[in-house]
Amino acid sequence: MDTRKLYYEDAYIKTFQARVLDCEQTKKGWAVTLDATAFFPEGGGQAADRGTLGGVRVLDAHERDGVVVHYTDGPLTVGETVQGAIDWPVRFCRMQNHTGEHILSGLVHARYGYDNVGFSLTDEGCTVDFNGELTREQLDRLERDADQAVWDDRPVTARFPGPEELAAMEYRSKLALTHDVRIVTVEGIDRCACCAPHVSSTGQVGLIKILDFMRHRGGVRLWMKSGGAALEDYRARYGASAAISGLLNVPQTDVAAGVEKLLSQRDELKRQLADLRRALAEDRAASLGETAGNILLFFQGDEDSLRLLANAGMEKCGGVCGVFAGADGDYRFVMASRTEDMRAFIRANGPALRAKGGGKERMISGRCGASRQELEAFFDR
Ligand SMILES: [Zn+2]
Repeated sequence: MDTRKLYYEDAYIKTFQARVLDCEQTKKGWAVTLDATAFFPEGGGQAADRGTLGGVRVLDAHERDGVVVHYTDGPLTVGETVQGAIDWPVRFCRMQNHTGEHILSGLVHARYGYDNVGFSLTDEGCTVDFNGELTREQLDRLERDADQAVWDDRPVTARFPGPEELAAMEYRSKLALTHDVRIVTVEGIDRCACCAPHVSSTGQVGLIKILDFMRHRGGVRLWMKSGGAALEDYRARYGASAAISGLLNVPQTDVAAGVEKLLSQRDELKRQLADLRRALAEDRAASLGETAGNILLFFQGDEDSLRLLANAGMEKCGGVCGVFAGADGDYRFVMASRTEDMRAFIRANGPALRAKGGGKERMISGRCGASRQELEAFFDR
């Protein structure tokens, strides 16, 4: 016996009474069938309703040959009448997002003739794929018109037309099916085959916002949110924008310019710092004395200044000049020599200094896990 589908009779039923017809333990939980249900099973890109049924939780629901199977986390007694309650905030959020998607898809279809070829609805909002490209300007226009359709508060209705009426009818997602095709109509905007529950008028969608889009398989994929999800998204973005505005001490409308200014200041400081490091390295290089042995230098500079110092040091010493930046256990280094093959040197001494590096015969660079004390003992030869 087919389950009586209360969600088709009224998409706003939140609680209901039903008799338990069957209850079996399965891998997915207890599989419960009822004589009637308001739990919408997964379908049309929309996930199954969650909620409670006679004191146990409904985790999922699927329809098979007209029968809705509820998967619960506990058993129910066959023959008993139980109270069902669906998680209404989640369901209403999905209804808002789904109807929002129909409005936008209807406008896209009417204006450009593109079909919605992929749809996924999560509690976060939805993604929609169209089989034709749309520009940002076109999407802006579509979004404005979709929101106008929301504010016009147009009726949204659903029914199952007979085979002949259906054959003569124009609607999106036209399939070869001739019976049990449910047609959801947004008055003056869209007509589409869809099995999911929708809000009863477009005003309840509240708001439609396209968040992002990209080219996808010769068409376009877009991310959108409607209703409460769009409001939550606005709140989150407002919070982020307010925080940046506070940090930069500029009005929220100017945060992009504020960040741009900050980045150009940062780049200027980077240039000044590099100049300073170079000047410091040059000073240090000029102060180096001649020695027949090794030279060990610690210098907090970038790769360029370490190289500059190593180049100067190798000319002043008969052994190896090592320049180290960082801290004990994690140094960056450049080492150079006029007399030694540095590649052989690192092969021979790398393990003792916990150092790894590479480069050319006269100069190598790398990282070293030794301490300052160990390096001083090693270079003091
Ligand atoms: Zn739909």
